[in-house]
Amino acid sequence: MSAPKPGLRKEAVPMPKQTPQERKANFKEVAIGYTEESALSEAQRCLQCKEAPCSKGCPVEMCIPEFIKLIKEHKFSDAAMKIREKNSLPAVCGRVCPQEEQCQARCTVGRIGDPISIGRLERFAADWERQHGSVIPEKAAPTGKKVAIVGAGPAGLTVAADLVKLGHEVSVFEALHKPGGVLTYGIPEFRLPKKIVEAEAEYIGKLGVTLRTDALIGRLYTVEELLHNFNAVFIGSGAGLPTFLGIPGENLCRVYSANEFLIRVNLMKSYDFPKAGTPIYVGEKVAVIGGGNVAMDSARCAVRLGAKEVKIVYRRSKEEMPARAEEIENAEEEGVSFEFLTSPLRLLGNERRTVKSIECVRMRLTEPDKSGRRRPVPIEGSNFLMDVDSVILAIGRTPNPIIKQTTDDLVTADWGGIIVDETGKTSLNAVYAGGDIVTGEATVISAMGAGRKAARAIHEFLSEK
Ligand code: FAD
Ligand code: SF4
Ligand code: SF4
Repeated sequence: MSAPKPGLRKEAVPMPKQTPQERKANFKEVAIGYTEESALSEAQRCLQCKEAPCSKGCPVEMCIPEFIKLIKEHKFSDAAMKIREKNSLPAVCGRVCPQEEQCQARCTVGRIGDPISIGRLERFAADWERQHGSVIPEKAAPTGKKVAIVGAGPAGLTVAADLVKLGHEVSVFEALHKPGGVLTYGIPEFRLPKKIVEAEAEYIGKLGVTLRTDALIGRLYTVEELLHNFNAVFIGSGAGLPTFLGIPGENLCRVYSANEFLIRVNLMKSYDFPKAGTPIYVGEKVAVIGGGNVAMDSARCAVRLGAKEVKIVYRRSKEEMPARAEEIENAEEEGVSFEFLTSPLRLLGNERRTVKSIECVRMRLTEPDKSGRRRPVPIEGSNFLMDVDSVILAIGRTPNPIIKQTTDDLVTADWGGIIVDETGKTSLNAVYAGGDIVTGEATVISAMGAGRKAARAIHEFLSEK
């Protein structure tokens, strides 16, 4: 195993960011990105470990030492091409992957100091390529086989890119008017600018993938109908259905699911209203219920929409919060406050049926539950009222049932997810699935990893036919 060299610089080159004061007032990207000089300086720290433990931590098995070596050698375009051999959305992953738990968690240099900033270097190479022109790789000869993909999120786009390069004819059917899935409608502009997602989707289009938007499978065609025209189908329809608390008052005005709120802010560009986009009202006091990344994104959007007091209401403590530490820190820096060990009991409205307060109860933690996290129980008599102008519910998402309801014999789990074998194959012949529709809410890179695996299995299946 490689050992860190004595004298190696332990600190990673920092990523410049907008200050909290600046960024609270705009939707521009918070992290500004490495310059050529900073990327070269960070790349110098990489030890080029032969065993590449970092690559083993990447769900799409990126050739990390190889692309960093190309950056060291100033071959930025080649570095981007090397990344693209394994990753169809590098500018996205470089920005939103939880690198600290994946590739970077295994970096040898991390044993003595900051791990190599793999995500930042990946972002640098991908951005450099976008600004200087991308090279479209050669494709295999046409196989005459056709594949339909349901959903243009990270899972579907990965399968599409992998299969088109192998010579198959690929069509993606997307329910919304834009591709990208959560990358387009969920993750806010200040973390992932939409022009980046558009450019990544355009690149996949240039590879020869046909994208059909406003095409809801289950209504326009069923999966069975797709199989009449295609040799295989991949379902990557995600988990876009919001979960509710099931408490009184959830149907009051100005109570939003995080899905609706983020779609209106990101996809419908509420932040640009009245110049463009649709309006959304948050008022001065906003409560966001939940403790994951979606809650942090919602809270940070509310700050930027002008709310004066944004509170995250979470029933466990900070240690149990599922959100990335970096996102919690960003939210704190932007003035978001936290009501830990607090759970909402009911939402109260005024005479116009608009939410005005939340009755909450304080919680205490007991023994761990099935998720391994300590179970919160209410403290009797600790009820209190929290004044609010709007409430955003960010407590989870499940799959939309339309595919399940319209596809005979497709085996699904109780919570609605599609059940697949280790190759990504469903209970139906020639039908594969992957991403959030199989795992429930996960990450961009895990959806892409599932897409890569299914693409391999689809290719083998088509090659045998
Ligand atoms: P999706 O991205 O959900 O894409 C599914 C696509 O299928 C959608 O475009 C949908 O419109 C389409 N579709 C659905 N049904 C049909 C149908 N019947 N016919 C046709 N099309 C259909 N992960 C990270 O790694 N880092 C983060 O920072 C991060 N932040 C997040 C923030 C938010 C607000 C949210 C909601 C999620 C976040 N995630 C993050 C999770 C990540 O985005 C998802 O795990 C990932 O997008 C899942 O990819 P997917 O392709 O399976 O599904
Ligand atoms: Fe790391 Fe994600 Fe890039 Fe893989 S895709 S190397 S996990 S940042
Ligand atoms: Fe080694 Fe880290 Fe460089 Fe990977 S990124 S080759 S683990 S030093």
